Amino acid sequence: MRPPDGMAERLDADHPHPAAPLRFRHRVRGRNPLPSGATARTRGTDGPHARGARGRGGTMRDRGMAHDDVAEADLVTRRGTFRAVAFRDRTDGQEHLALVMGEARAREGVLVRMHSECLTGDVFAATRCECGDQLGASLDAIVDAGGGVLVYLRGHEGRGIGLVAKVRSHILQDEQGLDTVDSATALGLPVDVRDYGPAARVLAYLGVRSVRLLSNNPDKVSALRSHGIDVAERVPLLVPATDDNARYLLAKRDRLGHDLPHLGHLDGANG
Ligand SMILES: [Zn+2]
Repeated sequence: MRPPDGMAERLDADHPHPAAPLRFRHRVRGRNPLPSGATARTRGTDGPHARGARGRGGTMRDRGMAHDDVAEADLVTRRGTFRAVAFRDRTDGQEHLALVMGEARAREGVLVRMHSECLTGDVFAATRCECGDQLGASLDAIVDAGGGVLVYLRGHEGRGIGLVAKVRSHILQDEQGLDTVDSATALGLPVDVRDYGPAARVLAYLGVRSVRLLSNNPDKVSALRSHGIDVAERVPLLVPATDDNARYLLAKRDRLGHDLPHLGHLDGANG
């Protein structure tokens, strides 16, 4: 199977410059590789990451990815061209997506966002949470940096309780004034059951050596480290507070320990 343009030499060399400084190259294709009207075909696991995974770093299964569970193709977006790496995680049974811009393999300090799925915020631009804004800001940051990885984690609705339960918690928030923590607890549900193992496994598969994690949540840093990924730095991802999301942001700061210094002027007691 033919490797993508420009990738074969770099990857076949198997980390030719291990000490090279972090430098992303935004690959912009001058032509559309597909004829008009053609649909993109996934390359299965014959893509560049798979090739690298079979090299010095061991087999794909060693890296947490079975052969049939990964497919990747270019994904042209309004922000630029990403490498879309879809993968099925055998542990949680979910299908997730990593969007890769530039080179990630054997790189230190790769800008990474682990984004938990939020259908209402990400797709429908709901304003009661800041998820959609964080998703957009993360992609912007990766483009501005010239490279990075966004891992879109499905099955993470409502910090893992699911979409129906999340919407049910919204009722308690709207009608009883409970915050995001108490509304989940009142439903007999856990506050946060998200598993970041799939993100760690795809980062390992991609060959990322260390990350700069776009997040306000210290728990994400420790979770990623517990799965063997080196987090060199946490990069704040601060979304301005609005009348709609202020209560949610304050609960994240005051109940969940998120680092949100820009809320200093807001009074959590009245939130
Ligand atoms: Zn959300």
